[in-house]
Amino acid sequence: MTLVHNWQLGRRMEYPYFESRPKHQFAAIFNTNRCIACQTCTMACKSTWTFNKGQEYMWWNNVETKPYGGYPQSWDVKTLKLIDSPDNTWYTDGKDAKTASYGTGAPYGTYEGDTIFETAKRKNLNQWAVGYIPEDKEWRAPNFGEDTARSSNQPGEYSSLPEHSRWFFYIQRICNHCTYPGCLAACPRKAIYKRKEDGIVLIDQKRCRGYRKCVEQCPYKKPMYRGLTRVTEKCIACYPRIEGRDPLTEGRPMETRCMSACVGQIRLQGFLDDNPKNPVTWLIREHKVALPLYPQFGTEPNVYYIPPRWAPRAYLRQMFGPGADEAIEKFMVPSRELLAVMSLFRMTQTIVYEFKIEQGPKVFETEIHGKKFTMYNDTVIGYGDDGKEVVRTTVEEPVHIRPDKHYNSI
Ligand code: SF4
Ligand code: SF4
Repeated sequence: MTLVHNWQLGRRMEYPYFESRPKHQFAAIFNTNRCIACQTCTMACKSTWTFNKGQEYMWWNNVETKPYGGYPQSWDVKTLKLIDSPDNTWYTDGKDAKTASYGTGAPYGTYEGDTIFETAKRKNLNQWAVGYIPEDKEWRAPNFGEDTARSSNQPGEYSSLPEHSRWFFYIQRICNHCTYPGCLAACPRKAIYKRKEDGIVLIDQKRCRGYRKCVEQCPYKKPMYRGLTRVTEKCIACYPRIEGRDPLTEGRPMETRCMSACVGQIRLQGFLDDNPKNPVTWLIREHKVALPLYPQFGTEPNVYYIPPRWAPRAYLRQMFGPGADEAIEKFMVPSRELLAVMSLFRMTQTIVYEFKIEQGPKVFETEIHGKKFTMYNDTVIGYGDDGKEVVRTTVEEPVHIRPDKHYNSI
């Protein structure tokens, strides 16, 4: 093991390989507050990439219902049980989780528990990262417990959590293209690699022998073994589209299929980099409204979530780390800049590398949760990898009034 820096944990941690970060890291942001679980993203992925016999388990994108849903069943409950102190071990300086703000260096404080890698080392296990292989029956469907809010409604096989008041939310899941992938660490064949140019994590199908070590040690359970071919597959981040090889793109990097198909307009994909005016970087690192999923696992996942504002905070802190309170606060009473950047979600399939805001008139003001909120009809402009404008939209959605006579007038 070597020591690498994990910014989500606010500290260095042990990992089998040296730290190596691409200049542009594939990243995505999902706004859980807007997802309607229509599964259009799930089908867009499935129909694009998995078309052979033996594809039954292959749901590289799935949308599950929390807290009782999961694909495979109970994946997070089971993994959380494998690491010690999976929550409430974040703060070192006595700051309260609700008020703490640590800047961008260690934005969520310091995680003091053990990651999946550190737990495996401390326990002297024959694994690089603690993990387990799900049983076949746990892979049956991509949204177990759909729209389920109470454990008492559930047959015995579902995860056992205490009974709680009625709430649920949807969580959208793809491979996180982690900075420190558990799958890559685990593979004895070195069949898994992380691309230097964009951080996409891929499995070399020719080298894979189907040992399923990646299935075991990815805490998010995103590599999937295909029984028919006896090799493992996973989300490939639609890399031909990222590379601008989709015929539609005219050479420009384009968002993945699951992102561009999203009906609820909850998804934005891009690259995490050092540019503070990159919308993805701004939402994650500058404004801190989008958070990693289970950062305590230690893989530094690169898919980020705006947490649901109605779910219990303790649950959200365990799931997204101690930044959950600050993120929800910012989302519920959005700043002028946040409203403008959020308007970019699903306005174009072309990847936006930088944004600019042109100020517009005041639309109205009100009070939300005792805080003053003012809305301005600003214009946000997105620029592609070549610096050319690829999208322009306003905060207020334009209203189009249909003329009396129109195409389907009777
Ligand atoms: S989410 Fe799992 S499969 Fe994807 S890169 Fe991370 S460890 Fe590997
Ligand atoms: S397409 Fe969008 S709204 Fe529909 S389930 Fe997927 S993420 Fe949610």
